[in-house]
Amino acid sequence: MNLAESLSNPRIFRAVGGVADELGRECYAVGGFVRDLIIGRPSKDIDFVTVGSGIELAEAVGRTMGPRTHVNVFRTYGTAQIRRGELELEFVGARKESYTRDSRNPIVEDGTLEEDLSRRDFTINAMAMSVNASNFGEVIDLFDGLGDIRRGVIRTPLDPDVTFSDDPLRMMRAVRFATQLGFELYPPTKEAIARNASRIEIITRERIKDELFKIMAAPKPSIGWRLLHETGLLKYILPELEKLKGVEVRNGRGHKDNFYHTLMVLDSVAARSEKPELRWAALFHDIGKPATKAWDPSRGWTFHNHNFIGAKMIPGIFARSKFPQGEFMRYVAKIVELHMRPIALVEEEVTDSAVRRLANYAEEDLPDLMILARADITSKDEAKKARFLANFDLVEEKIAAIRAKDAERARKYALDGTEVMRLLGLPTGPEVGYYIKHLQQAVKDCEIEDTREAALDYVVALAAEKGLSPVIDPKTLLE
Ligand code: ATP
Ligand code: MG
Repeated sequence: MNLAESLSNPRIFRAVGGVADELGRECYAVGGFVRDLIIGRPSKDIDFVTVGSGIELAEAVGRTMGPRTHVNVFRTYGTAQIRRGELELEFVGARKESYTRDSRNPIVEDGTLEEDLSRRDFTINAMAMSVNASNFGEVIDLFDGLGDIRRGVIRTPLDPDVTFSDDPLRMMRAVRFATQLGFELYPPTKEAIARNASRIEIITRERIKDELFKIMAAPKPSIGWRLLHETGLLKYILPELEKLKGVEVRNGRGHKDNFYHTLMVLDSVAARSEKPELRWAALFHDIGKPATKAWDPSRGWTFHNHNFIGAKMIPGIFARSKFPQGEFMRYVAKIVELHMRPIALVEEEVTDSAVRRLANYAEEDLPDLMILARADITSKDEAKKARFLANFDLVEEKIAAIRAKDAERARKYALDGTEVMRLLGLPTGPEVGYYIKHLQQAVKDCEIEDTREAALDYVVALAAEKGLSPVIDPKTLLE
């Protein structure tokens, strides 16, 4: 396979390849860039691997790119970066890694291209594209990454037990790529994750968080959460979510499986909003259910106050997981706390005052709350679902009407009561109201323009009808 024709900006690759040729070096674009190019997905960073020093190559490339090009060198890692506008070029020498049982950090040595590709996590990430002139664009694919892209499979190039035990973060990456790309985990790869799941505990919370946020940003985040559950990773990462799983039946009455319910809600929120904090609120909306579950002989299963308990759980989960604190977290807790309100409202009665109360609590987050409320109706009873959704339409219409009314009230007119009093020499009283009301009506009906001049003319004319004339020159009110 040759990718030369697929490159949207071949100049950069030709330039790097030309410099490598002059140095007598092999050089390849590798990893995620090649994968994304084949899939047709945009990517911002390009990783180049050369056989030999990556820093030397980067410095040589930097010299050909003009005097303002800055080469960022990281000697300890043997890497160097060059920024070209949106693009970030990274250079590294081909390396071989070996892991020892007792250390998470590999021993790194210079290696061949083959060795470099073998140490990579998945076959789809282990392809290289030559940039040397002699075979420009040619793909080196030692592990059938192309076939795995075609089949939509995440698979490790080497023994998966070794791969995951060496670097357990790769288990999170497997799930994350499956979610971002809509791929499946190759069964032996998935089984190896299940066997090595407990090793995730040696990975820092920050790195796990980064993967979770990428999962949440995908079009269908449920893929990731389902896989985390199926592989046994979830109980180490977010045990509170794992606890949502399962159905208990008593006297023939079961409650819904809140884990799968949550995933449905999450996906339908994700289909309507890209806002990360709203997606997290969807994931956690029922997180208080296991702690509040109770059996009531007359009503069946209940989860009283699960929204309040859930909201209270958020700070602990966020701190432990190294999720963003501050505004982001407060928003999630607030939405979790309020998520029942729109439903409670339509179950009772959609009165103006109830709608106004909801709007006051939710403030600017009301549209998000309504997205979650709609997504939360996962009932299989279509008639019931339709009734709820129609009532939400009604709530939204009322909110819009209330907002319009409030805006009208807050609106400033070109002329106010005190000015009318000064103009006509009137005392405080209903007569002032008469002029103001007529003036406002005339503006609303577009009888006159909404300017001070027009308002003054209008009031003066209206006064004249009543035999009243201005006691000051109207022009003084224009200054
Ligand atoms: P993205 O940038 O979209 O997150 P990516 O595949 O480019 O995806 P990076 O983290 O940028 O991921 O890594 C670049 C490449 O380095 C990968 O494609 C893979 O070949 C290799 N790589 C990254 N992390 C690991 C790891 N933990 N183990 C093995 N190889 C890795
Ligand atoms: Mg990358």
